[in-house]
Formats: sequence, C-alpha cells, structure tokens
Amino acid sequence: MAKKQFKAESKRLLDLMINSIYTHKEIFLREIISNASDAIDKLYYLTLTENTGISREDFYIRLAVDKDARSLTITDNGIGMTKDEMENNLGTIARSGSLQFKEENADKMEGKDEIDIIGQFGVGFYSAFMVASKIQVISKGYGQDQAYMWESTGVDGYSITECDKDDVGTQIILYIKEDTEDEKYGEYLQEYKIKGLIKKYSDYIRYPIKMNVEKHKMKEATEEQKADKDYTPEYETYREDDTLNSMVPIWKKSKGAITEEEYNQFYKEKFFDFEDPAKVIHTNVEGVSTYNALMYIPARTPYNYYTKEYEKGLQLYSSGVLIMEKCADLLPDYFSFVKGLVDSQDLSLNISREMLQHDRQLKAIAVRLEKKIKSELIEMLNTDREKYEKFFENFGMQLKFGAYNEYGMHKDAVKELLMFYSSSEKKLVTFSEYVSRMKEDQKYIYYACGESREKLDKQPQTEMLKDKGYEILYCTDEIDEFAFKTIGSIEEKQFKSVSSDDLGIEETAEEKEALEKQKEENKDLFEAMKEALDGKVSEVRVSQRLKSHPVCLTSNGEISIEMEKVLNSIPA
Ligand code: ADP
Ligand code: MG
Repeated sequence: MAKKQFKAESKRLLDLMINSIYTHKEIFLREIISNASDAIDKLYYLTLTENTGISREDFYIRLAVDKDARSLTITDNGIGMTKDEMENNLGTIARSGSLQFKEENADKMEGKDEIDIIGQFGVGFYSAFMVASKIQVISKGYGQDQAYMWESTGVDGYSITECDKDDVGTQIILYIKEDTEDEKYGEYLQEYKIKGLIKKYSDYIRYPIKMNVEKHKMKEATEEQKADKDYTPEYETYREDDTLNSMVPIWKKSKGAITEEEYNQFYKEKFFDFEDPAKVIHTNVEGVSTYNALMYIPARTPYNYYTKEYEKGLQLYSSGVLIMEKCADLLPDYFSFVKGLVDSQDLSLNISREMLQHDRQLKAIAVRLEKKIKSELIEMLNTDREKYEKFFENFGMQLKFGAYNEYGMHKDAVKELLMFYSSSEKKLVTFSEYVSRMKEDQKYIYYACGESREKLDKQPQTEMLKDKGYEILYCTDEIDEFAFKTIGSIEEKQFKSVSSDDLGIEETAEEKEALEKQKEENKDLFEAMKEALDGKVSEVRVSQRLKSHPVCLTSNGEISIEMEKVLNSIPA
C-alpha cells in the first residue's frame, strides 16, 4: 500500500517533534496515556447511554516493554478508531491550535520558549516522535469488525493497512530511538523510569494503568536455615501485575474523607518539607469555573524564600494530568509562600482550545484563590492569634512588600493582614486594633522607625506621645515605612512619623505663648548652634516633645529620618 503524505502543517509539527531538543521529552508518555484515558472516557460515556455490556471496572490501560525489539506498547480498551478516524485524527492535526499559536508568536519565542509550549501543553500524539523512530497504532473502533494498523516513521508519511485485533480499543507501539552520545532513549524501556513517569504525570488518571513488573521477595527460610544464626535471607525475583497510578487524587476527595495526617503526609512528600504545614486550604469549586485546589502554608520560611532563586507557583493539573509544575499566574506575589496545586477540567491539556480562553479561565481561578487564601488567613488571625503571629514572623515581610510593590495596587488586599509591634501593647497588633484604641483627640497613627524595639523604646521623639497615652507602631524593617506611605491611611487616619515636625498635637494658648517667648529669647543662641552644625540641620528650635532628653532630630519633609537614610543608601 502506498504511503500517504501528512498534511503540510502536520508535517511541520512532526519535524519539530522529531528534531526536538526539548529536554523533557518524557512528556510523550503523559500524552499517549491521556489519549488512552480520553478514549476510555468516550466508551464509558457510551456505556451510560446504551447497553454495551461493559462496566467501569473493566477499563484499563496497559504498558508493556520489549527490550529486544526496543518497543514500548500502550494498550487501552477505549473506544478505538475506525479507518477514517485514523486517517483524520492521526494523519493531520485537526484545528492545530498549538501550531497556530507557535506561528503567531514565532518572533517572541526564539528557541527555548517555543519548546516550553510543547512541554507545558503538549501537542498530543505526535510528541511520541520525540523518542520513537517508528510508531504503529493498531485499533479497532467500537462496533467495528475490522481492525486497522496505522504506521509511520515520521515525515515521509504513513500507511494504513488492515490487521487482526480481537478486542475493541487501541494499541500503540513505540519503537524507541537508538541511544546516541548525548541522549539515552533506552531509559524509556526501563521499568523504573516508566513507573516514575506515570507517578509524576499520570498518577491521577482515573483508570488503572497496569504493567507486569519485576518484584523481589524474601524466600521463606527452612527450619534448618532458621536455626542457623549465620543465615542471610535469600531473595527471589518474580513478576506480577501492578497498578502504577493511584487514580483518586487526594484533592478530589471530599474534605471529610481526608484526615489531617493524610493532608500533612501528602504535603511533605509532594513539596519536600520535613515539617507539617501551618495551614491546609482545600477547596472544591463548581460553577463558572470548576476546580479543586489544595494549598498549604508552610510552617517555616523556605531557606531560599527571600532570594531570587525562589520560584512561586502552584502545580496545575487538567483533569488529573499534570500540565505545569509551577504556574506562577495562579498566585499573587504577596502570597508567593503558598504551596499547592490546582486541578481543573476546564483547562485543556492541549493548547488547541485556544490559548486566550485558557488564560481567562486561569485568571478567574487565580482571583478566587487569592480571595480564599486571604479569608483563611484572616480567620487564622481571628481564631488562632499565636499561630498567625508565627505565620507573620515567617512571611510578614512578603506581605509588607506586597503592600508597597506594583505602585501599591494590592495595598487594600494586604493591609488587613499586616502587623506591627505596638509600644503600648508590647506585641504585634493590626491596624484596625490600633485604630480602635486611638484616643479621642488623636489625629494620626504614629510610627517610629529604628533598628530595634529596645532602641525605639528609648528614642527621645517617642516620649511626649507616650506621655499623652498614644500608641506608637515600631518599624524595624526598612520596608515598613514604605508600606505605610503606600497605604496612606487606615479608616481615614493618616500615618505620622514620630520624627516629623508637625505631630498634629493641639497646644493650649499658654503653651503656645510660652513657646513663642522661649523662641524669641533664644534666637541668637539657636542661630549660633545652627552655624556651628554647619549645614547639617536646617533649623534649631525649642521643642515640647522632649521630657528627659535635651535634644532630638526631627524632619520637616514628608519622610522620616530613617527613610532618608534608606533612600540615601540606594546608589544613584
Ligand atoms: P488530542 O488528544 O488533543 O485530540 P492528540 O494528538 O493527542 O490530540 O490525538 C489526536 C486524536 O487521535 C485524538 O483526538 C483521538 O481522536 C485520536 N486518538 C489518539 N489516541 C487514541 C486512542 N488511544 N484511542 C482512540 N483514539 C485516539
Ligand atoms: Mg491528546
């Protein structure tokens, strides 16, 4: 039978696959397994609407390796393909969204990025050509008598011939490429590798993925051997069918069906932590976008958290299939400490369902996750103060940056979550707690910036305010004051640095008069002092804010002395 040519665009994609330099070629297995699962879904759907005599438990996907033939075979008992379907589905890339996307963005996607599109969304069946030099697809469509074999070695076309196959379903035989100097394709014929790939990408496929695997067990010792104290146990090797995937992901279960231990165990295994998480957030949403999300707040700061190396993001699954290891778009920067995953059936594994739509879905989910994380944190703050303070010690700095960064566009989302040390309460307090304690005549939310709480306690500028019974928020991180400036006000109360010139404190008539008098009397002295300081200060005057200290510095600009220091330390 004559070879048929691939359609032009399919040919180009094939070419890309065959010569792929993509480092994660392993995703081919995910693609093939997903297709098998889709085909089973289709037949399963039929069993619900017509009497096929098949029950759900009958479905499976099976893997088999023949090392001599260098073949990896993936069999499913799904809906199969007719001859026409083979022709249409494997000979051409229908609605090739991925190719279109690639072309439209060609200029932006030089080299590596282009390949990443393959990695993240897959291009389906053809990705197998990254590792296989020849592919045979043997399939019998549901309700058909005749089976067919599609065969191709790549760009030079394909053939479809009649063949024998008893059962409905599809068998895909991948003839794995020979090893080269820099590529060990033979790995994909190794049991351990295949097992690992299934665990990594296809663990939550809803049908069992079976393989006959090598196992070892200890030989039962004879009585004589048991009596021998030098006896070392012997092992025997045998083969057995194993189901490689766990099928039901923990996040698809209802909350009541999962123990805290299970949640924690899953977290530690998946996100490589030794400690249980501080908080588990599990949410199953149905509606405009349907998704399950399982998120965790770590109990401690990851060692690289406040460095450039740290990458935020949630794992992204599409119906149980991993499509992205770290999807950054799912988390705002100020919640970058959240670990976890999102699984949605609304996201297509294949990019062909239009990238844009896909993006919109993702954004909608991200917005809801952000709200969810925030509400969980607020709840922690209200119900478990100690835990929240611990959380804030770990990640509060990131929240403060969150208020300040991106021109403060997230300040309103973040401000309720912030805490600062209070001079009067001697502990971390929130803005709203501060405001609720403000004195009747108090105009501003006062803050003092310095190296440590101890030093701030002794700072002369804070004396008079404390004397009046005002609370002062202590800022010991450089970011603090920047965050205040960005937030601007809380319940219409503005922030005021204790070192600012005008503290907004009303003076009595006598106080004013006394001050004026002192000013006049000491005019010459102050002028002399200013001159002696030689341009280091702009004015010297009498102050009412001091009690036990003879002198203090104030700032007449918008920013505090501390902030000036920070700004001056930034190289121009
Ligand atoms: P997609 O899965 O996004 O449709 P693929 O390139 O992965 O794209 O697969 C192309 C088509 O080939 C599928 O839509 C399906 O019709 C057919 N196909 C692939 N594998 C199988 C299979 N195991 N059983 C039945 N049909 C299959
Ligand atoms: Mg597919």
